[in-house]
Amino acid sequence: MKTLAFDSAVIGGGAAGMAAALKLSEEGFSAVLIDREACLGGILNQCIHPGFGMHRFGEDLTGPEYAGRDIGMLTETKVKALTGTTVTDIRDLAGEKELVCYSAAEGVVFVRARTVVLAMGCRERNRGNIRISGTRPAGVFTAGFAQRLVNIEGLVPGRNVVILGSGDIGLIMARRMHWIGCRVLAVIEIQPYPSGLTRNIVQCLNDYDIPLYLSHLITGISGKNRIESVTVTPLKEGLPDESGSFVLPCDTLLLSVGLIPENELTKKAGAVLDSGTGGPLVDSRLMTTIPGIFACGNVLHVHDLVDYASDEAGRAGTAAARYM
Ligand SMILES: Cc1cc2nc3c(=O)[nH]c(=O)nc-3n(C[C@H](O)[C@H](O)[C@H](O)COP(=O)(O)OP(=O)(O)OC[C@H]3O[C@@H](n4cnc5c(N)ncnc54)[C@H](O)[C@@H]3O)c2cc1C
Repeated sequence: MKTLAFDSAVIGGGAAGMAAALKLSEEGFSAVLIDREACLGGILNQCIHPGFGMHRFGEDLTGPEYAGRDIGMLTETKVKALTGTTVTDIRDLAGEKELVCYSAAEGVVFVRARTVVLAMGCRERNRGNIRISGTRPAGVFTAGFAQRLVNIEGLVPGRNVVILGSGDIGLIMARRMHWIGCRVLAVIEIQPYPSGLTRNIVQCLNDYDIPLYLSHLITGISGKNRIESVTVTPLKEGLPDESGSFVLPCDTLLLSVGLIPENELTKKAGAVLDSGTGGPLVDSRLMTTIPGIFACGNVLHVHDLVDYASDEAGRAGTAAARYM
């Protein structure tokens, strides 16, 4: 089994991890950037719509274009990228950290470092998190997973689609599903106002006559093998009004009901979590409660704009460098 040693190890090669690694390298420290996927970029790789980079680059880029800028800068540095490699544990070795990694190419690899930057991103809330009653048929996906199926795997998750949640991911997926020839029957939102950006309401729903039901929720899912319909119920004075319920026949339900920091590894490392954000508790240097372990990007708290995740990650990289 191989053991590699660096000044700093960055876990997660999305926008945040890449910015932290760039900063560590700029400060003169050796760094390794570890990601379980085959290539760097994280969630950006599946976001083929524009809307990235206005603050950082002053340009309206797609997700892959934004990732490409950082990947280009990384190739000019000595940062070692370990892709296809999952970190499963972080141990303390007399002040130093040791990461246990499983690499598709090399099997178990140990990585030792003086500091660690957590940049593992976030995960989507799913049906279990929001407890919709009904049967358990196929055809219920989180919106980000459906985005990956369409934009990366080239697969169509279904034909007649209902979307729960009007956050930006739900809105972007409404338009995407329409563009690939699906019928998007409705976007259902529990709040009396949309959660996503106004530009996305206009460009993703209004431009394609996709109905948005505000103050409504999905109270039931039906179907034996594949989902066949959902029951939609309006809210009256904050409570479900079943007298107004209606059934929408569909074969696909996309859930866009929030993101949670990917905190399994953070917990395993023993860092205290912040009950407000779901990410690790950090001080003003972005250092967790474990000395030498820093956090940034969506693993710390969910960011709407990638530019802010990159900016925060640069600060985490600088803080890790100062710590050494
Ligand atoms: C669908 C969608 C649309 C968006 N649209 C916009 C937009 O229009 N404009 C905008 O500015 N922002 C947008 N954002 C927000 C922005 O893209 C994200 O906030 C930002 O890219 C997050 O970067 P990150 O590095 O924190 O996380 P991620 O990109 O998720 O990167 C985390 C990385 O960590 C890796 N990882 C996790 N655990 C491990 C482990 N144990 N071992 C190894 N690797 C691991 C993952 O494989 C992943 O590559 C959007 C986000 C989403 C999800």
